[in-house]
Amino acid sequence: MSKIGRRFEGKVAIVTASTQGIGFAIAQRLGLEGASIVISSRKQQNVDEAVEKLRAQGVQNVIGVVCHVSNAQQRKNLIEKTVEKYGKVDVVVSNAAANPSTESIINTKDSVLDKLWEINVKASILLLRVHSTINPTEISRLLAQDAAPHMPKGSAVVLVASIAGYHPPASMAMYGVTKTALLGLTKALASEMAPDIRVNCIAPGFVPTHFASFITGNVELRKELEAQTLLNRLGTTEDMGAAVAFLASDDASYITGETLVVAGGMPSRL
Ligand code: NAP
Repeated sequence: MSKIGRRFEGKVAIVTASTQGIGFAIAQRLGLEGASIVISSRKQQNVDEAVEKLRAQGVQNVIGVVCHVSNAQQRKNLIEKTVEKYGKVDVVVSNAAANPSTESIINTKDSVLDKLWEINVKASILLLRVHSTINPTEISRLLAQDAAPHMPKGSAVVLVASIAGYHPPASMAMYGVTKTALLGLTKALASEMAPDIRVNCIAPGFVPTHFASFITGNVELRKELEAQTLLNRLGTTEDMGAAVAFLASDDASYITGETLVVAGGMPSRL
């Protein structure tokens, strides 16, 4: 990891699906930069282990809350526990996704289409809805303090889309389309939440994680993917953590509604 700063001192960050892979690396980076971290995923044991791992790495302010992102009660609890413990929410990273099908879109079952929409797109919206309704205490405090008629200045949301959102590949077509939706959602939410809350997105290339192992675990496929990059390698979870930390930090204070492609130069868009 390159030398890192302390851009999140005094900030509170929630990262969904953060017990391993990209989500964990995002939480790790924000935590090492000084943020108080809220880890979450579906399984208590994974949550406990990830919290311990971060503590062992020197991130002292970290709690874990179980949250399956499509469970409304658990989403509410995630935000409530955060506010109870740390009093506010400065950064929300919506990182959870499912990819339950390798079928063509036409042949994907209704129930699978629903699940993809529910977890990959709708949960991000609902999480933010809870975020903006749970924050009134903090908003009121800041209102009184700064006379600002909005949420705390500098709050940031980062969504995790995918390079697959630009050109949905045949083997994960509908998943890709849900990620395309996140590119649009980023623009729309940025407009709704402006001017005080910025909303941005990253589109990772291929990163060898559990989620991507059905592709990156295949030696031939992996070589093909590496060849599609300009940098001759797949991404690392740390590459993604660094990109999210930039977008969530004040270094990106004039950037909103944008998607940063973090894919080693893989074809995406002009
Ligand atoms: P990963 O290493 O397999 O980790 C997945 C994490 O998500 C785990 O912590 C898991 O913990 C949690 N999780 C799964 N379903 C969840 C749910 N419904 N609610 C809450 N937590 C859930 O996956 P990853 O590769 O880091 O993927 C993270 C994000 O990056 C996804 O949005 C994915 O689309 C995106 N992405 C990945 C790649 C890649 O090549 N890896 C490329 C582009 C985009 P539990 O089992 O405890 O829930």
